[in-house]
Amino acid sequence: MNLNDILELDKRDSLAYKRDQFVLADDLIYLDGNSLGALPISARDMAARIIEKQWGQDLIRSWNINHWIDLPIDVGEKIAPLLGAAPGQLICCDSISVNLFKLLATAMNMRRERRIVLSQQDNFPADLYMVQGLSQLCGSQSCEMKIVEESNIEAALDESVAVLMLTHVNYRSGRIHDMQGLTRLAHDKGILVIWDLAHSAGAVPLALDDWQVDFAVGCGYKYLNGGPGAPAFIYTAKRHQDQVRQPLSGWMGHRSPFSFEPEYRAATGMGQFLCGTPPIISMGVLAASLVVFEDVDMPVLREKSRRLGEIFLQLIEDDERLGELLLVSPAQSHDRGSQIAFSHPRAYAICQALIDHGVIADFRAPDVLRFGFAPLYLRYRDIWKSVQILSDIITSGRHENKKYSRQQKVT
Ligand SMILES: *Cc1c(COP(=O)(O)O)cnc(C)c1O
Repeated sequence: MNLNDILELDKRDSLAYKRDQFVLADDLIYLDGNSLGALPISARDMAARIIEKQWGQDLIRSWNINHWIDLPIDVGEKIAPLLGAAPGQLICCDSISVNLFKLLATAMNMRRERRIVLSQQDNFPADLYMVQGLSQLCGSQSCEMKIVEESNIEAALDESVAVLMLTHVNYRSGRIHDMQGLTRLAHDKGILVIWDLAHSAGAVPLALDDWQVDFAVGCGYKYLNGGPGAPAFIYTAKRHQDQVRQPLSGWMGHRSPFSFEPEYRAATGMGQFLCGTPPIISMGVLAASLVVFEDVDMPVLREKSRRLGEIFLQLIEDDERLGELLLVSPAQSHDRGSQIAFSHPRAYAICQALIDHGVIADFRAPDVLRFGFAPLYLRYRDIWKSVQILSDIITSGRHENKKYSRQQKVT
């Protein structure tokens, strides 16, 4: 593959026009859209409008006239089609961590005769921490975490397990679980499943309803481009919604918050997952970000994401100067999400040097260099250029400069 082939791919890319809907410097190569999505112009404009008009002028009237009160449900409904979910099963609120707590408690309540939450050793630590917190609160006689290696998950699905909690696309390796298959196996044993879609929503086509998923959570600030700290979302299958008993019974989840009753009565449907007052500015910005997805066909997006990853990997494998990078991700694009990771003993310094040279990637402890491919705004020529810069850095040893080893708080 040479530069002409690459430029030809850009010319034929049916998603190429999407890049103009984002604020992105032409010479910046952003391979971190899996961690913090780029800024859509629609979101930037909405941020100004919410602050100046809705807050600045309409003030408290906005709860009604600008429909602030409906935002959590409205934003959930905008996300639903990206996940293959029919209306009435999503709500936008809080963070993944907090939402996992609500769902774990709900699911454990539905399986009171069991106490095990099964997860995987290399799941995102926050997800495991939330189970540990719940277990500490309830006592290990009613909630205990069991973690196994990825290859042992199927074997560990037995009648002692109440809940299987997994992340669909592994945050480090990018490996994709067979969501449909694992959900079916779990159901065969009476196990409820909670899927974390942090690295799937907006990147990988999903069919939550068809796959009979019970519960899911996902992230607003990664591929959905909702901005730093954007609220997350919860999916609960319609068939379970009457059995929900989530413990964070804040007033916004009350059936009638403005009756100010002393007794908590949960709202029906997804509204019962709300806790406190929604962060309107962030949520309004996320709503505006989702506009960029309105005319996007998820299989087309997935196809481009796979192609970007395949070319990136091919270019790296063809460059013998990059032989020290060891692939951590599955070799076939079919088996991974929209990211590729390598291990390298100097991964941290290489990552810092890349950033200094206009290629933004990220480092995940202990030695992983992770590249994300957000197909809405990445060009094939960005992929080409990023490998050239990576190769130059490693060949010249430029990453050995001391300034690239200084550890920052966020990696
Ligand atoms: C990014 C990410 C999170 C983030 O959780 P928050 O509580 O929203 O910060 C959770 N789980 C996974 C798998 C992630 O990748």
